[in-house]
Amino acid sequence: MDAKVAIIGAGWYGCHLGMMLDAMGCDVNIFEKNSDILGEASGNNQFRLHLGFHYARHNRTRIQSRDGYARFTERYPTLSKPISNNLYVVPKYDSLVDFDTYRLIMFSSGIHFQELRKNEWPEYLKDVDGVLKVDEHVLLIEEARKHFKQKLEGSIRLNTKVNSTEKTDEGVLVDGEKFDFVIDATWGHLTDIDYDCFYEPTLLLYYRYMGEGEYPAITMVDGPLCSIYPTEKKGIYTLSSVKHTPLGKYDTSAEAKQRLREFSNAELQSKIEVMQKHVEQFVPDFSDNFEYVSPQLNIKTKLLGEHDDRSCYVKTDDRMISVFSGKIDTIFFAAQKVCDYLERYVHGEI
Ligand SMILES: Cc1cc2nc3c(=O)[nH]c(=O)nc-3n(C[C@H](O)[C@H](O)[C@H](O)COP(=O)(O)OP(=O)(O)OC[C@H]3O[C@@H](n4cnc5c(N)ncnc54)[C@H](O)[C@@H]3O)c2cc1C
Repeated sequence: MDAKVAIIGAGWYGCHLGMMLDAMGCDVNIFEKNSDILGEASGNNQFRLHLGFHYARHNRTRIQSRDGYARFTERYPTLSKPISNNLYVVPKYDSLVDFDTYRLIMFSSGIHFQELRKNEWPEYLKDVDGVLKVDEHVLLIEEARKHFKQKLEGSIRLNTKVNSTEKTDEGVLVDGEKFDFVIDATWGHLTDIDYDCFYEPTLLLYYRYMGEGEYPAITMVDGPLCSIYPTEKKGIYTLSSVKHTPLGKYDTSAEAKQRLREFSNAELQSKIEVMQKHVEQFVPDFSDNFEYVSPQLNIKTKLLGEHDDRSCYVKTDDRMISVFSGKIDTIFFAAQKVCDYLERYVHGEI
């Protein structure tokens, strides 16, 4: 396809879209404000290649993740790796759905799992209703950086912040330079986007496992619970708590960024305490096995609504495309939508 395309943002979405459009023959130009790619949400998250187990309450997100996982492991086989013991645990008292319902939702969604018998449950888990062993992977961000930088060499403009986009009769101007199409892949940080969404500053905590071998990935579901998930670095895990990870809810990206700038050391210390307490409700010996390493601060852009929708949406408006990211493995959904739009536009169907 003979089109000059600007992609704003070199996160997972911008890089994957860049690869796809490059393969289609487009002249791809990725603008990234930072000095490296995958430097914001894409490089600072829980690094879970979702399969849908997180989303018992949202069918669309669950199905996008289930399908995205299959496509991701096929398309990028070196950018994630399996976790030998990856457990989703439904606790007896705090889950929004009971274990039988949870298992039924996953089973009827066609997501593969192994149900553990009671005598196979880890003995250190407390008040458990049921446990599934799953195939979710952990994402390898350093490998991903290398991969995309090599494949997209010459197409990425680092340290280049976009300040304005403007439509003209023949195309779209990005800071004055003309393109046939522009894709906003900044997860809502370029302009206030046309989605009912909010910005949630977040705190995850990195911990070092002090024991032998590998500690399992443990995700308590469903609802305001917590999880311990490995990273690509040996022995380093993230602790996340749906109750304590969010640091507020803001209407604009600027306000959310300001909140992170104001986050103090005293606040961090009290967060470490409450997040550890939270996980110890379910894994009482957490502090005996893990030592705190450092915080991870970031911003999630989330759709408003009560149904836990974390799926991906794409909006198009006369050569301008805006991507609202879902999970990382839903990049394929965005790519399909973008590709359909460009082809229809170029063939005069729009
Ligand atoms: C705490 C947390 C945990 C998460 N855990 C998971 C998980 O385990 N698994 C999962 O699949 N997803 C997870 N997510 C969601 C995941 O991180 C996002 O879906 C994904 O990273 C979004 O990718 P993106 O490319 O759209 O956005 P980003 O990674 O944010 O990339 C946008 C890029 O745009 C650039 N940019 C912004 N403005 C401009 C500008 N004006 N000019 C030029 N460049 C600009 C930024 O610098 C950035 O590099 C988590 C998110 C958070 C915050």
